[in-house]
Amino acid sequence: MKVTVVGGGVIGITTAWYLAEAGHAVTVVDRAPAMADETSHANGGLLHASHAEPWNGPGVFWDLIRWIGRENSPLLVRPRAVPGLIRWGLGFLRYSRRRHHEHSLAVNARLAVHSLERLRALRAETGLRYDDRQEGILKVFNDRTAFESAVQASTLMAEAGVRYQVLDPDQTVALDPAYGDARAQLAGAIYYPEDESGDACLFTRRLAALAAERHGVSLLNDTAVEDWRLEAGRIVAARTNRGEIEADAWVLAAGSYTPLLTRPLGLRVPIYPVKGYSVTLHTPDWEGAPRIPMIDDERKVVMARLGDRIRMAGTAEFAGYDLSLRPARCDNVLNNVLATFPGLRDHIAPETREDWCGLRPMSMDGPPIIGATPVPNLYLNSGTGHLGWTFACGVSHLLAQQLSGEPPALDMAPLALSRFN
Ligand SMILES: Cc1cc2nc3c(=O)[nH]c(=O)nc-3n(C[C@H](O)[C@H](O)[C@H](O)COP(=O)(O)OP(=O)(O)OC[C@H]3O[C@@H](n4cnc5c(N)ncnc54)[C@H](O)[C@@H]3O)c2cc1C
Repeated sequence: MKVTVVGGGVIGITTAWYLAEAGHAVTVVDRAPAMADETSHANGGLLHASHAEPWNGPGVFWDLIRWIGRENSPLLVRPRAVPGLIRWGLGFLRYSRRRHHEHSLAVNARLAVHSLERLRALRAETGLRYDDRQEGILKVFNDRTAFESAVQASTLMAEAGVRYQVLDPDQTVALDPAYGDARAQLAGAIYYPEDESGDACLFTRRLAALAAERHGVSLLNDTAVEDWRLEAGRIVAARTNRGEIEADAWVLAAGSYTPLLTRPLGLRVPIYPVKGYSVTLHTPDWEGAPRIPMIDDERKVVMARLGDRIRMAGTAEFAGYDLSLRPARCDNVLNNVLATFPGLRDHIAPETREDWCGLRPMSMDGPPIIGATPVPNLYLNSGTGHLGWTFACGVSHLLAQQLSGEPPALDMAPLALSRFN
């Protein structure tokens, strides 16, 4: 079958890979001059089944109220975004009830574990490298209550197959001495040995090149899909800035822009762009750099070593499709990492610092939105939120299985668009 994938981020390219492996003739179209130019470009770099918890936890409403107007808060709603946020936002709050939240957490955790298995298989098959590390991830806590409730949440995730180890401060420092400077403030940490890290952009671009070389996947950049041509309810062509493209089936992997592309089809897809920031520093001379990547859940920041770089990411801003880079938000990310690793301050070379922001394609309830739609030859692979790098190989393999008529490896009902009906 001739399949066109719209979007060449980590989700679109992994989709193309698995579809081509299943024997389809695949084209990827992306409006940007290179693949992985948008949200997959400089994310936190963590492949974290340990972070499968959706962001709309039971207390999220009060957090939002508490943080109103605080520029340095981890979650910020910009007033001008409110009108476009009402419908999605009410759903986001509705799904924060404990029953929904625990269901979504379990769905995400199972999917993340499956996705990491698929990634390992892909790495073994292709030998692909992307500044990757298989060292696990440490979630650190300074507050004892937060630590204890995270340990409790880990038992829920363990049921889905996420292995973990609870550590006291001494055990944390013994595991990775780089956490020594934070010893006095630590309440404890949780170590997730099967989590990984790596550069999503490098991975996406290298996999795209391999897909073209090995499976003949066509990669079309600078090509923006603007509208659709339908016949008898099926999409026969995409209208782009470079003319029409025809295909038998279509996969939308356009990240935060997926709902804008389904709008002309009368299809509402509950995904909202949630802005986040990252800072990358080249630190080849930082000998004390942590071996194990970090999630600091209280400060809402993550940090990973990518080759001789350090990548830090965090913050969530509801600001619509506004991609303006706010230096204060980037400084905030950096300062939150310095709180754990004060030694990093001596290795900041301002001329190598790269600030970046991107839009997480966040679904209303937490899990991504994958699979068939009411348009018979249109499929979605989007809504991966803060977990797109983690989920990429799993969601794309599942989608390829469904599109090829094979039984999917996981139940796809909790991931389907129809769950919102
Ligand atoms: C600050 C930050 C930190 C993050 N950290 C992590 C992390 O540590 N671990 C993790 O698992 N996830 C993380 N994420 C989330 C992850 O980066 C995303 O979920 C993932 O990149 C989404 O990939 P995507 O392919 O769906 O979207 P994108 O990478 O945005 O790709 C969509 C593509 O569609 C193209 N497109 C859009 N509209 C059109 C059109 N009309 N025509 C043609 N092309 C179009 C765009 O050009 C783009 O290339 C983070 C996100 C952010 C913002």
